[in-house]
Amino acid sequence: MKKTILTGIRPTGRLHLGHYFGASKNWVALQYDYDSYFEIADVQALTDNFDNPEKVRTNVREIAIDLLAIGIDPEKSTIFIQSMIPEIAELTIYYSNLVTMARLYRNPTIKTEIAQKKALFGNDGESVTYGFVGYPVSQAADITAFKGDLVPVGEDQLPLIEQCREIVRKFNSIYGETLKEPESYLSETKRIKGLDGNDKMGKSLGNAIYLRDSEDEIKKKIMGAITDPNKIKKDDKADPSVCMVYYYHKLINSDNLDTICKECKEGQRGCVQCKKELIESMNKFLSPIKERAKYYEENPEVVDKILIEGSKRAREVAKETLKDVKKAIKIDYE
Ligand code: ATP
Ligand code: MG
Repeated sequence: MKKTILTGIRPTGRLHLGHYFGASKNWVALQYDYDSYFEIADVQALTDNFDNPEKVRTNVREIAIDLLAIGIDPEKSTIFIQSMIPEIAELTIYYSNLVTMARLYRNPTIKTEIAQKKALFGNDGESVTYGFVGYPVSQAADITAFKGDLVPVGEDQLPLIEQCREIVRKFNSIYGETLKEPESYLSETKRIKGLDGNDKMGKSLGNAIYLRDSEDEIKKKIMGAITDPNKIKKDDKADPSVCMVYYYHKLINSDNLDTICKECKEGQRGCVQCKKELIESMNKFLSPIKERAKYYEENPEVVDKILIEGSKRAREVAKETLKDVKKAIKIDYE
């Protein structure tokens, strides 16, 4: 029997390089060896975008197009929409009894995200909602609903997987062995930095290169990327390890990496030249993805059909899990 992977992406924007190298490149490779479920987490996206449903709605299809364009094969994998599986919401309610508020507030991912969302949740997080603080519980429901063995995610998600494992252990210890404890699966490049040098490239951080960015957008973004601040003149020696331009050259494996590094260190390479070369490599790297996306952009009804059918398939699996859970909690009245 094949093992199962379950992973998710929030429809808050399109896929960017952080997603690709931090997580989704792995998803494409894994789909051949695992039963694979890819959740477009619209319910989770609403926890911090409840005031902007249009954004979430639009991005459900955009994310699906991105997933198909990078090579997720709908014949092999199930791509589905979270809100179309109400069983997940029901599981969330039962799991919510097994987690303390203190534990949720202590979760490093939640802490960081509350701090990043001052406009929404206030300076000290005083306006943070019940739904947002609780999203790790809902994520535990996502994973366990599909009996996920492996959850391939970026590094920022690890505390959430740990939280899920705790919920599973607590559930099983109180109600008997019912749920499967998942493991996280990290890609080689755990966390991809943003154009501004931020530790994480993120949709909500405004520092991302999107897989379907136009050549103009790519040019503008790379020209504005952070380089070694100590390099002022073209022939100053610089440190490539603090330069985002070198960082992306490495990430997409540009030609002549060694030369780029050496010339930068020895002051033989200007940043403008280096950026121009990166723009060229980036366009070369992204163009096959954009080419594949074109078909789905022109045929949105194909995308919608894949999502509806995937969601139907996924729902059947989640129904089984919910049945087991209700039996374990002794609320199986029929
Ligand atoms: P948001 O800001 O709305 O949370 P996001 O950019 O963090 O968006 P998610 O949908 O939350 O994207 O994440 C989808 C997956 O991509 C997760 O597994 C996450 O860990 C991974 N991921 C996102 N950004 C990065 C990054 N910069 N480096 C590595 N992995 C990432
Ligand atoms: Mg995120």
